[in-house]
Amino acid sequence: MKNLSNYIGGKLVSSAAGGWLEDFEPATGQAYARIPDSHKTDIDNAVAAAQHAFPGWSATPAAERGKWLHKLAALVERDLENLARAESLDSGKPIALARSLDIPRAVANLRFFAAAASQFASESHAMESGAINYTLRSPLGVVGCISPWNLPLYLFTWKIAPALAAGNCVVAKPSEITPMTAFLFSELCIEAGLPAGVLNVVHGLGPKAGTALVEHADVKAISFTGGTNTGTDIASRAAPKFKKLSLELGGKNPTIVFADCDFEPSVSESVRAAFSNQGEICLCGSRILVERSLYTRFRDAFVARVQALRQGDPLDGRTEQGALVSEPHLQKVLGYIELAKKEGGTILCGGRRAQLDGRCANGWFMEPTVIENLPPGCRTNQEEIFGPVVTLIPFDTEEQAIGYANGTPYGLAASLWSENTSRCHRVAAKLEAGLIWVNCWMLRDLRVPMGGVKQSGSGREGGWEALRFFTEARNVCIKYA
Ligand code: NAD
Repeated sequence: MKNLSNYIGGKLVSSAAGGWLEDFEPATGQAYARIPDSHKTDIDNAVAAAQHAFPGWSATPAAERGKWLHKLAALVERDLENLARAESLDSGKPIALARSLDIPRAVANLRFFAAAASQFASESHAMESGAINYTLRSPLGVVGCISPWNLPLYLFTWKIAPALAAGNCVVAKPSEITPMTAFLFSELCIEAGLPAGVLNVVHGLGPKAGTALVEHADVKAISFTGGTNTGTDIASRAAPKFKKLSLELGGKNPTIVFADCDFEPSVSESVRAAFSNQGEICLCGSRILVERSLYTRFRDAFVARVQALRQGDPLDGRTEQGALVSEPHLQKVLGYIELAKKEGGTILCGGRRAQLDGRCANGWFMEPTVIENLPPGCRTNQEEIFGPVVTLIPFDTEEQAIGYANGTPYGLAASLWSENTSRCHRVAAKLEAGLIWVNCWMLRDLRVPMGGVKQSGSGREGGWEALRFFTEARNVCIKYA
């Protein structure tokens, strides 16, 4: 059993109170590591270390800060195979996905913001009346970054990289369910010689360590990615203290397939959008709306592809569907299958816990599941399931498709498939979602604003948006004769 440590003030340390939490391997259902069960004292220590480091780090030229991020990126890239294996082991995701998506994206996040650090510029506004304004953007101080379990190192670096690039010092709280790669990243920071206290990583439970971070008087901003209920709790604690908040929350994303789509890619990409990472990506399309004249053909091709997905040991490079992240999460997803049946749904494929052999016999696997015959307003079609479960819903008109797509409390992402360019622009402009993909899914440019509307969050990450979030703007107005 490996014991992981917090990373505070440049050192690997246990929690002050000495408690531990178990870390499980989803593919076997066995505990294989322990993390510190951190408390307020550990957060206090981390914030104090970050405050101590802040004057030096914020005064370091932006290009130098960029060099540190480049150095960390090179170490992550060097350890790609090791980190991909660790991510797969810790989260149950296929190692092929960790190799091709999670770890390369962590490298890209670090490199992107390393470069952005020296290219960030502020605005100037000249007035006709003989005055000029310029905006100063300064780092906030100590900021908190709280990340979820579904894309562990990918989302951890997506937050800490812009925060550090902008000159802040960070206290990060990774998910207690998938702490391993954040711990390995701490070791890489030590190897790189990153100045002590610039980045601190505190492991532990959300309502304990997470809450202590959110409520800490000296933490100026919280960047959070996770569930909508958690976002509500964080907002209620942070708002009275007037902290800056970035909230990236849940989704119930529609994939809209019009009869005039290019059929092959619309089927294969809808399957990828639905089942990548076992459906445990906030951007996954879990409600597939199909124009009625294409419905039967699309449904049959879609189900055939889903049934062909290779489920297996996440550490096997050929596996396409790994394990769900935890036993409670598996039970939650299975609960939604029962609900869907009660609501009158027809299970077209899947619908059960999957039983694997050998070392994965006790793992938390679930058959990829497709359901039809459910009304758009039922709970199965309204609530985020966050697993390998999708519904198919026919529609008759463009207006009806838009109504169904927008008819949930969420508004994170949407994808639409049509060869009619006018329709694509028209529908895209009417969708209540922060990210809209046309004839593609999860094609990511790190410069674009990333975030949701309605209960999918507030604020935007990515590009300049992230650097603006992690800086305070002050305007200087100079009148000249
Ligand atoms: P979660 O909300 O349970 O936990 C996320 C993080 O918050 C963890 O580190 C957790 O320890 C911490 N936390 C929990 N309670 C807290 C509290 N009261 N105060 C402070 N911190 C607390 O979410 P999860 O189950 O880890 O992740 C799945 C959710 O994340 C899904 O809803 C998914 O849609 C969402 N998500 C959204 C995006 C996005 O960009 N919008 C990306 C990935 C995941």
